[in-house]
Amino acid sequence: MADLVRKYDIEVSDHGIHFRPDVGYTVTAFATPAEIRELQRNNYRVVQHENAGEWGKARQGEVGVGNRYAQSADLHSPSCLKLGEGYLNVDEVESALAVAAAAPYANIATLIALPNRTHEGRQCHALKIAGKSDANRVGVYFLGGVHAREWGSPDILINFIEQIEQAYVNGTALTFGSRTFSAADIRTIVDTLDILIFPQANPDGRHYSMNVDCRWRKNRRPAPTGAPECLGVDINRNYDFLWDFHKHFSPSSVPASTDPCSDYYIGESSFSEPETQNARWIVEQFANTRFFIDVHSFGKQILYRWSDDEDQSVDPSMNFMNAAHDGDRGVAGSYKEYIPAGDLATSLSLAKVLQNAIETVRGTNYTIGQSYPASGTSEDYFYSRHFVDASKTKIIAFTVEWGAQFQPPYAEMQHIIDEITAGLLAFCLEIANLSQANSAA
Ligand SMILES: [Zn+2]
Repeated sequence: MADLVRKYDIEVSDHGIHFRPDVGYTVTAFATPAEIRELQRNNYRVVQHENAGEWGKARQGEVGVGNRYAQSADLHSPSCLKLGEGYLNVDEVESALAVAAAAPYANIATLIALPNRTHEGRQCHALKIAGKSDANRVGVYFLGGVHAREWGSPDILINFIEQIEQAYVNGTALTFGSRTFSAADIRTIVDTLDILIFPQANPDGRHYSMNVDCRWRKNRRPAPTGAPECLGVDINRNYDFLWDFHKHFSPSSVPASTDPCSDYYIGESSFSEPETQNARWIVEQFANTRFFIDVHSFGKQILYRWSDDEDQSVDPSMNFMNAAHDGDRGVAGSYKEYIPAGDLATSLSLAKVLQNAIETVRGTNYTIGQSYPASGTSEDYFYSRHFVDASKTKIIAFTVEWGAQFQPPYAEMQHIIDEITAGLLAFCLEIANLSQANSAA
């Protein structure tokens, strides 16, 4: 999740305390209106960056960098230390993928072994669903299970696979709340698109979270020498997009951490981790990938690009590759990240499709927004590839932050699974219909 801090709340820093010669020591923190009044009564200077909403406050619970165990317990189900609770465990996710590639689905599904084993030696698999194999098909890529404690993401993607496969093979419709996808809709999706699903990118972390520490976020890379108690890398800070944030971002923006103890540790180099290498391998292997969603929790959010700074569509030279802007990114100010107007329009309209479909299930409203600020994320990396090298296919990328907590009771999780499955189906259907319209034109 929330791995993506929005700047409207407060500043978040490695240590929470800064010294500036002009101001003296400053502390960045979330404060309620009553706390702010109390501080002011005691002659503290309070600079309110923006007014945090409920969502921001919840998000703040996760984002205290260097504050790994400080989230309030109510972010989790009371029984989060009990294994299971209805969620698929690591082996079950892998078994579900194997079943999904076997009869009677073998004609439309291919099991894909990822090339890099995890630090604990686990073999990961993805699944490709495609009803046909003609050229120029559009690839849609769903990633999940990146952050260990976001237990529901693999469950969502496995459910998506099971639903779409069964409906396709049986020629039946799928209904979620007031939204029905007809048998013809399902056929259109599967026969038009290559759908790539990598539901459990971080099995080591998931296993640890489900068995030892439910709050675990990172992978399980062994600790570097000198910090034996601090292991793991934040996979979604390890991609090659402004990865070296100290260089590229403003000193007062903290989109990640170089502290191995932090939940947001970026790793020793970009793509140092087998998990990020596997996620990248899919888009290299399937060069037709044009759309990507990384499924996270939580926040009830649909987030589009970019994550490093506010979007702008007027100055193409003001972009993440321009070293003249190093040191400017990630704070309110003159720097804004260039996104072509057409890409922004596509992002917003597809986000709306997701939002509408999610809402039809039981009325839950997901908000659409820009990710901010973060470095080294999958979403930005995949979208950025085309700008770095125009021969690479452009991938329009999103983050979905499902639900209101990392590990909801499974009865609630099942509703969320339905909501996000409906969203992903609508997303695929929209792209399939557009793709057919384009090829007919
Ligand atoms: Zn996450």
